[in-house]
Amino acid sequence: MALIVQKYGGTSVGSVERIKNVARRAIKWAEAGNQVVVVVSAMSGETNRLIALAREVQPEPDPRELDVVASTGEQVTIGLLAMALKSMGQPARSYTGFQVGVHTDSAFTKARIEAIDEQRIRADLDQGMIVVVAGFQGMDAQGNITTLGRGGSDTSGVALAAALGADECQIYTDVDGVYTTDPRVVPEASKLPSITFEEMLEMASLGSKVLQIRSVEFAGKYRVRLRVLSSLTPWDIPLEQEMRSGTLITFEEDQNMERAVVSGIAFARDEAKITVVGVPDRPGIAYQILSAVGQANIEVDMIVQNQSVAGFTDFSFTVGRNDYARTLSILKNEVQAHIGAKDVLGDPKSCKVSIVGVGMRSHAGVASTMFRTLSEEGINIQMISTSEIKVSVLIDEKYLELAVRALHRAFDLDAPQNT
Ligand code: ADP
Ligand code: ASP
Ligand code: MG
Repeated sequence: MALIVQKYGGTSVGSVERIKNVARRAIKWAEAGNQVVVVVSAMSGETNRLIALAREVQPEPDPRELDVVASTGEQVTIGLLAMALKSMGQPARSYTGFQVGVHTDSAFTKARIEAIDEQRIRADLDQGMIVVVAGFQGMDAQGNITTLGRGGSDTSGVALAAALGADECQIYTDVDGVYTTDPRVVPEASKLPSITFEEMLEMASLGSKVLQIRSVEFAGKYRVRLRVLSSLTPWDIPLEQEMRSGTLITFEEDQNMERAVVSGIAFARDEAKITVVGVPDRPGIAYQILSAVGQANIEVDMIVQNQSVAGFTDFSFTVGRNDYARTLSILKNEVQAHIGAKDVLGDPKSCKVSIVGVGMRSHAGVASTMFRTLSEEGINIQMISTSEIKVSVLIDEKYLELAVRALHRAFDLDAPQNT
């Protein structure tokens, strides 16, 4: 008997009919002799609606109370799904994160899971129940409700799978797997039968929202077998077929197939660039600039410092677009007060496009193919950053679609992938 954790996203539980289909699918897995835990998101659009409601009352919502509001969407879907299961004759029980004991830190709106009490779930499973758990939510040591950041139900699913020692964590969503890039941007994108953890981690951290980054980190750390698959197929497709469908996230050492050099293309739309112009080139300047930003809890991504000319240099970095105005005003104050730079400039309309692939380790010339492709499209590169298995560029956001499509073609990803 296997223990399976299934997570269904917002679209997958977006209507009563879809919730009933989730129930039928979960029962199919249970009737085949598996113990099944189902983690659900709120119905699609619901979390956005709740956050907008909070903002109407308080434009910068109190984080603790925002989590109280935002977490309610999942409480609705667990109850509805448990009802659907029971009405089909399947014993079931729903639990909020609080009831199960999903323990997190106290970072409201972006809390991290620290531990999960799994005894209650195990006891129910042993009695033949399907256990339905609310994704996205937990509680801190003081008993406050917390949420795990947007897309956090993926992490709830994987963390539960890790805590229970599940045989597989299945992430059911509105696409049938992980694609070479977002199929909404490149219709020619193709599904990857498998992708390595390392690549998936890069894809997620570089903007692919198909899995929340922390869910991939969890899966890597606890070696959870993770599969992304579609909830929109007929619920009664044969189990053997469903078991092999979607994309399996694998450990690289398990792979012995010939891989493409570039496995996928990720992008992040809402980036902003800040440049501190004419900074005196002396020790401590990077620290001074970035610590002012860090103290305000603003995350910095790409960083570039130019060659100095006559003792002065330009220092550029990127932040999320939401933090743009705040970063600019912090640095303008800092420049005047301490740094002695000439000016602070910014561009809030940037985006980041990245190519990802473990094959890059053993192939030269990948970055130059990327740069040539962008130059042939007349796209100017504003910043570059690289690691062993990725190359990222910052470009004007108006070229995002063009860049992603051109790179998809240049790296032969338009053809079906066989890894
Ligand atoms: P859910 O509500 O099920 O959690 P999400 O909207 O969070 O679903 O994630 C699924 C979406 O991720 C897809 O509809 C797709 O547009 C997007 N996406 C982005 N990059 C990729 C990719 N490389 N492969 C597949 N989907 C991707
Ligand atoms: N409902 C939450 C969100 O919309 C969590 C999730 O869907 O994973 O972000
Ligand atoms: Mg999601």
